Order: sequence, then C-alpha cells, then structure tokens
Amino acid sequence: MKESKELICKMCRLFYAKGWVSGTGGGMTIRLDNDLALIAPSGIQKEEIQPEDLFLIKLDNSENTNYKIIEKPDNLNISACTSIFVQIFKQRPAAKAIIHSHSINAVMLTKITQYTEILLEKYEMLKGLQGGTYFGSHILPILDNVEHECDLAEAVGKAVKQYPLAHAVLVRDHGVYIWGDSPEKAKIHAECYDYLFAALLQEKTLKALNLIKG
Ligand code: ZN
Repeated sequence: MKESKELICKMCRLFYAKGWVSGTGGGMTIRLDNDLALIAPSGIQKEEIQPEDLFLIKLDNSENTNYKIIEKPDNLNISACTSIFVQIFKQRPAAKAIIHSHSINAVMLTKITQYTEILLEKYEMLKGLQGGTYFGSHILPILDNVEHECDLAEAVGKAVKQYPLAHAVLVRDHGVYIWGDSPEKAKIHAECYDYLFAALLQEKTLKALNLIKG
C-alpha cells in the first residue's frame, strides 16, 4: 500500500506538470487487493499531495454510496469524483487505476461537437490503447456536464457499460476519466488519449481551413 500511495503522489505531480490537474482539479485512484482503493483528496493542490493525505475506501455494494471510507486523513474531504471512480471500478473489474483529467485538449474537443460520442481513427498512437489498432476505429462517449460532479456517477457507469472497448469517458466542458489495468497502463492511456485529442483538434482546424482534405 505504501508504494501505491507514493505512486499516486508521483503521478499527481506529473499530471500537474501536464496541466491535467491544475487549480486543485482532477484526481486519481488506485485499486488495491480486496476491493480497497486509495483516492486523492478534494480541494487541495494535487502537486502537493503527500501519502498521508490519501483516503482508503472499500468498494461495497450493500450501501447507497457503493463504498465505505476505511481511512480518512484529518481536515481533508474525499474527492468529489469518488462515486464516479467507484462506478467505473464496478463496470471494469480489471481496471486498477483511474485518472480524472481536466486536460484542455479533452475540454476543447467536447466543445466542437454536439454529438454524444467522438470517433478516433487513422492515428498510429491508437496502438498505445489496449486493443487499439491503426486501421480500426475507436469511439468514446461524451456526457454533458452537471453542477455537482457526484451527480455524474450513474451516467458514467452506464456509458462505461455501453462502450466496452473504450478506456475513457469524456465530460463536456469539463474533462475526461481514463482507466487502465494497472497504474502504468492508465497513465499510458491518458497520454495516448491526450495526444489523440490534440491531434483531432488540429485535424478539424486544418480541415475547416481547407488545408487538409476529408
Ligand atoms: Zn473534474
């Protein structure tokens, strides 16, 4: 557990440098054995998080919230994303880590479409996604944002179930939730998706200027 706590702190610093968790936004969780999960706290600077600041929860189907808090650091609140993380873990038994990013690329991509999904295709970087191929197409769901993040949990759970090949759910004007079968795979997925989001934004801009065809 000590290593996983240190890994969350290290990843939060990396993600802060990328602009994914700035302004106290975003979050991260790692699932341990026995349905336990470590979760970064809410409302504090993610790049400053220390191992002792993390919450420990147990995923639990018997309660309305679907989790119980096992360890709670003093004077900190659990992440507003917690019920969303729990929904994703429930729908993806193999997922071991989830990253919530407020990446500007993810946000802008959701602003340029009114559709409820986005198609990613014809990029070599798709191979970095589990099951991804250059010639295949990869579709991600887009949900509309809500005022309180916890109110997204049910919709995220449904979207994760509805798109079994996706490793992420976009939330319009807000960001993206990305998972993987290990913390490293979740990080790789987050990097690949962010590259793909940036590439698609540029592709759509250049198409609008008639600088590339299609
Ligand atoms: Zn958020």
